[in-house]
Amino acid sequence: MTPRRCLYCQLSFEPSKFRPDQRVCNRGPCRLQRNADYHRAKIATDPDYAQVVRDSQKKWRDAHPDCQRDYRAAHPDCIEQNLLQQRQRDGRRRLGNLVKNNLALDLKHSCSEAWLVGPAAADLVKNNLAQSKLFIFQPVLPSPAASAGS
Ligand SMILES: [Zn+2]
Repeated sequence: MTPRRCLYCQLSFEPSKFRPDQRVCNRGPCRLQRNADYHRAKIATDPDYAQVVRDSQKKWRDAHPDCQRDYRAAHPDCIEQNLLQQRQRDGRRRLGNLVKNNLALDLKHSCSEAWLVGPAAADLVKNNLAQSKLFIFQPVLPSPAASAGS
């Protein structure tokens, strides 16, 4: 067997004679990474496997009801981070729904500028990709039932 380069650590290794297509070495961190990647890919592609994983996680949470509460009490910053990430996911989902529903039919061009102010702006001069948020305000229309009754 000719030596091969590991997919993760890039070190040379001898593939097993029983698995000539082996791409990852047998070192601990590489095995863990390979297993994690397999697990993640399997969840994404196999709904039955994903359901078994969800059931298993729920079973563990039910058996250890205090664990999550204790972790959050010990790591208050993770609550804030989760909240922020959930808001970002919700915002992306809402924006995706708007795109799918094609609600924005009459788009107006708007000129806008981004001003980089403050001591940290010097670091942003070369990195000029600006994040932005899009707000779409819709007029509140009275419902047909309310207007028919009056
Ligand atoms: Zn390796």
